[in-house]
Amino acid sequence: MKGIPYIVSAPSGAGKSTLCNMAVDFFSDLRHSISYTTRPPRQGEINGVEYHFIDGPAFERMAKTGEFLEYAGVHGKRYGTSGKDLEMLLAAGKSAMLDIDVQGAASIKKTLSNAVYIFILPPSLEVCEQRLIKRGKDNPEDIKRRVAAAREEINNASGYDYIIINDDLVAAFEKLKAIIIAESSKRERMAEKVNKAFGINVK
Ligand code: ADP
Ligand code: 5GP
Repeated sequence: MKGIPYIVSAPSGAGKSTLCNMAVDFFSDLRHSISYTTRPPRQGEINGVEYHFIDGPAFERMAKTGEFLEYAGVHGKRYGTSGKDLEMLLAAGKSAMLDIDVQGAASIKKTLSNAVYIFILPPSLEVCEQRLIKRGKDNPEDIKRRVAAAREEINNASGYDYIIINDDLVAAFEKLKAIIIAESSKRERMAEKVNKAFGINVK
């Protein structure tokens, strides 16, 4: 049985990391896909947990040797998803949360046929900015750059299967859970298990 890749995008500050962490804590067969980035760690971030933090030349080498399923420049830094890491997770039957930007999501669509695309929105751009300020982990210039990029990112929401507005966190998480439960219960994803259990041939 292969796991399901969930592609989750959002403007910075919408609450994507918070919701993805809640989902990974809640579902025992769900894991984070850990990306590679040239961004320096924020206070409290640990190499190999939130990201694999690497320098520009190391990122370039990985890009050149085709190790990335997708990669993109976001807010002045580079981010990429390792194809091998993701394949290993999915082959082990684990589903994966891929927290990636809209460019990465668009390019992954060409290669990952069974992925589920989820877009998380803040109730407004003003709230988004306030959350980034309150989070207190990005410098003011970085926050300005992230808020400026938000409108353009939201404009790309049409390629996604689901939109969650993260106003009340508990309500937003209920929606994310509902999506994950419904997607994993789809007939085509259940067919192999059902066929094995009942000796039948549901497609
Ligand atoms: P992202 O990963 O999308 O950049 P985070 O998950 O880091 O965003 O959330 C940004 C900040 O907003 C964090 O401090 C987080 O605790 C807070 N936050 C997330 N969701 C909500 C919510 N529904 N209401 C209020 N604050 C929230
Ligand atoms: P942050 O610096 O706030 O952790 O992430 C900045 C942006 O980079 C977010 O929009 C996040 O989704 C995106 N991002 C994180 N990892 C990847 C990745 O592997 N690929 C792409 N394309 N974007 C990523």
